Amino acid sequence: MKKNLTTPEFSNGVNRRDFLAIAGAAMAGTILPGCTEVLSSAKNESSLKKPNFIIIFCDDLGYGDLGCFGSKKHRTPNIDRMAAEGMRFTSFYVTSGVCTPSRSSLMTGCYPRRVNMHESGAHEWVLFPVAEKGLNPNEITIAEVLKEQGYATACVGKWHLGDQPEFLPTRQGFDYYYGIPYSNDMGAEQRPKNPPLPLLRNEKVIEAPADQNTLTKRYTEQVIKFVTANKDRPFFVYLPHTMVHNPVHSSERFRGKSANGGYGDAAEEIDWSTGEILATLKKLGIDGRTLVVFTSDNGAAKRWGGSNLPLSGFKGSTMEGGMREPCVMRWPGRIPAGKTCDELTCTMDLMPTFARLAGTKPPSDRIIDGKDIRPLMAGKQSAKSPHEAFYYYRVDQLQAVRSGKWKLHLPYKIKKRDQAKATSMPLKLYDLEADIGETNNVADQHPDVVQRLLALAEKARDDLGDLDRKGRNQRPAGWVVTPKPLRKK
Ligand code: MG
Repeated sequence: MKKNLTTPEFSNGVNRRDFLAIAGAAMAGTILPGCTEVLSSAKNESSLKKPNFIIIFCDDLGYGDLGCFGSKKHRTPNIDRMAAEGMRFTSFYVTSGVCTPSRSSLMTGCYPRRVNMHESGAHEWVLFPVAEKGLNPNEITIAEVLKEQGYATACVGKWHLGDQPEFLPTRQGFDYYYGIPYSNDMGAEQRPKNPPLPLLRNEKVIEAPADQNTLTKRYTEQVIKFVTANKDRPFFVYLPHTMVHNPVHSSERFRGKSANGGYGDAAEEIDWSTGEILATLKKLGIDGRTLVVFTSDNGAAKRWGGSNLPLSGFKGSTMEGGMREPCVMRWPGRIPAGKTCDELTCTMDLMPTFARLAGTKPPSDRIIDGKDIRPLMAGKQSAKSPHEAFYYYRVDQLQAVRSGKWKLHLPYKIKKRDQAKATSMPLKLYDLEADIGETNNVADQHPDVVQRLLALAEKARDDLGDLDRKGRNQRPAGWVVTPKPLRKK
């Protein structure tokens, strides 16, 4: 489907020549797409005082898959220690139950519908290989915000925001990229019409199909190398693991060792990886000026062995199990040790929060949905969630809204090809503080709360859109005309 492919070649009002000029200049290190300031790589005093940031972003790891979030199956001593030395965020959300939309929010601080990454443009939830669509290079990513502040930036892992050169991490603010461009089940091994799963260094395919058994190990080595090389200047590392997305893989040391099959093996290797990275920070003496965030891009899938307990629902749904993630943040001396924060926070908050910590502000020329959560991270007792409401979209459909402890599942129809057979979902209200598993509908007892949340939902429909309805403040995705497969040359 090429519905957004309008003249001249891009739907966002940028013609191809301008587009490539922007991308080319960004590659040459002169300007950032969407930014006006010239980059500075000077290692001056102020840049040395800026904190480092590492985001460890699992794929499909569930709320109940870590020891520190209640798992009895997986041994995760390193992440558990990270939680004991830092803070657990127990109401931390992603903006979609699947990969691509969720990642677009982490990168931009915006809801997927804001940046039009809530669907693939080809009747799919996520982008597939040789996609015409990608995250618009005119969006300002978290990496671009930090790069402008003198940060060295690396993305190591699964990208999934466009596999064409125009959309790769190297064009979205990352100095260095090593990883796979989309999900690990999208190569020729699983889907014969697709190219073999490519492993990229920057924009070049260096291995195809990628040896998935050693990916977690190699990602870890890449991160350690990058952190070590940049220990004397501020850095931002984004580590979106390929695991524990199916098909699960792990290196020999972990294979067959867990109590939960291949899924548990992969989860335990990610725990090992996290421990190696934290040990590196200590060894280099930069532990005290590095904020590490560990979380996941969406809930565990129904079939593959993960757990979202005590939440209901799975990957892809707007139940808590699809979109509430285990989250641990650690920053010795800045985030109090051993604390839990149950205030509503989300991946969209990381960009504006990191911007402030790096001594700048989030972009002011556009709507950013994320909020500054520094008071919550500092453990201030009076600190409350900065979000009046949080919106749960499934692809293009608004299905639920949360405000405070209340979550309202909106009445809607599950879209089917034959609309006459569409399933009607009833309105339901849950008190998440008393009923985290969403089992007891209390809508009848709280008509005032229902009305308040319905009004908030209407605000979102107007702003961001809903099924068959455009929002007034959406921005265009990026598009190319003739996408090419990524192959090893
Ligand atoms: Mg995922």
